[in-house]
Amino acid sequence: MKYDVVVVGAGFAGSVIANRFASDNKRVLIIEKRSQIGGNMYDFIDESNVRYHKYGPHIFHTSNKKVVDFLSNYTKWYKYEHRVLGKVCDKLVPIPFNLTSIEEVFENDKANKLKSLLIETYGMETKVPILELRKNENSEIKELAEFIYENVFKYYTMKQWGLSPEEIDPAVTGRVPVHISYDDRYFQDEYQQMPKDGFTSLFENLLASKNIEILLETECKDVLKFDTEKNKIYLNDEEFSGKVIYTGAIDELFDYTLGELPYRSLEFVSESHKGTYQKCGTVNYPTPSDENEYTRITEYKHLMEDDNLNMTTIAIEYPYPYNRNSKKGNIPYYPIFTKEIEEKYKEYVKLSDNFKNLYLLGRLAEFRYYNMDAIVDAALNLYEKLKGL
Ligand code: FAD
Ligand code: UDP
Repeated sequence: MKYDVVVVGAGFAGSVIANRFASDNKRVLIIEKRSQIGGNMYDFIDESNVRYHKYGPHIFHTSNKKVVDFLSNYTKWYKYEHRVLGKVCDKLVPIPFNLTSIEEVFENDKANKLKSLLIETYGMETKVPILELRKNENSEIKELAEFIYENVFKYYTMKQWGLSPEEIDPAVTGRVPVHISYDDRYFQDEYQQMPKDGFTSLFENLLASKNIEILLETECKDVLKFDTEKNKIYLNDEEFSGKVIYTGAIDELFDYTLGELPYRSLEFVSESHKGTYQKCGTVNYPTPSDENEYTRITEYKHLMEDDNLNMTTIAIEYPYPYNRNSKKGNIPYYPIFTKEIEEKYKEYVKLSDNFKNLYLLGRLAEFRYYNMDAIVDAALNLYEKLKGL
């Protein structure tokens, strides 16, 4: 079979763009190194009848209607609003840290004073990133900011990234701002819902086209060759002039010639228990690593539409330095983004620009901390740009 488009990776980036080309009657080959589709969204029903997310808890939330409308062609949904508690001063309080969290960790008079001050300064229903709150000159707000920094952000971030909150891109801690509100949901997006039959089924539907062929357990380089002198791409040793959409790691694509890009990795340790393990979907442990080495525990049945199960499965999340050659921590989960690294990434992009038919898409290829809705949106946009070419 001759292909019009080759897509590397069957995560959201690769699957959405493959779906779009296939719907336009283009013949698409997907190359995926894992033994299953879905990328990091892959899920399955485990022995306890729990829908387990193999690569970490994934909750769909967005304010982008275009993304919801598109995905709704491939799945039904159920409403799910994620709630997270964090262990702070030996209590479990709402995260993002909010007005309820203040009430739970401070005695009444102090809590009331702090809440009024925050509302006066920032307004109700506002969000303030911790690094911004720390800059406030008012001594009481400053004291509160230091408390939250120390008890919610400092150790979690050091465990997660191996760096302090000041050393990482401020947008990362800004994902979980202090919330001047009683709204205890982890996300405030307009659409918060989960695919009725799970993410894997959503991917099966996205890819169910006679125009799509999928090669599982196949490394990109097993079938594609990138000639960096002639700037040509070969598919099974024949020159391929159709479009190649690459969603893997860009440093890997170019054999690390400009050095490795830094990532952070994770290991998930699963446990099966009787009954229910914890009160909500996720409990964060922003405690020092000598107290809890892990960052969070997710109990998957809370994420399900029907959580009336006798058994339960939890996943304990341990951060690791990424090392592609080691047994643990060999999946590049999070790009570590700094100004210096941005320069190196741009050099890699220049290498890819030399290939006229190569396009980078997705969290790894674009080296960005994308949520899944942003990936779907990026894939739809790239397709719109390429469809007439
Ligand atoms: P991926 O899902 O990583 O897919 C890339 C695919 O390419 C993989 O299947 C991989 O095997 C394949 N591949 C890579 N290299 C090659 C190669 N050389 N040859 C062949 N195949 C290759 N987002 C949310 O919106 N909500 C959440 O709750 C959420 N939770 C998250 C939790 C964790 C722990 C992490 C790490 C991320 C989370 N995200 C969440 C973000 C979400 O996972 C990403 O937005 C999404 O995975 C990006 O999709 P992608 O297709 O770019 O990448
Ligand atoms: N964070 C933190 N304490 C928390 C929750 C989050 O310090 O209790 C910081 C940490 O640096 C983390 C970032 O905020 O990496 C983003 O958190 P999020 O929950 O969005 O991370 P993800 O789900 O993407 O791993």
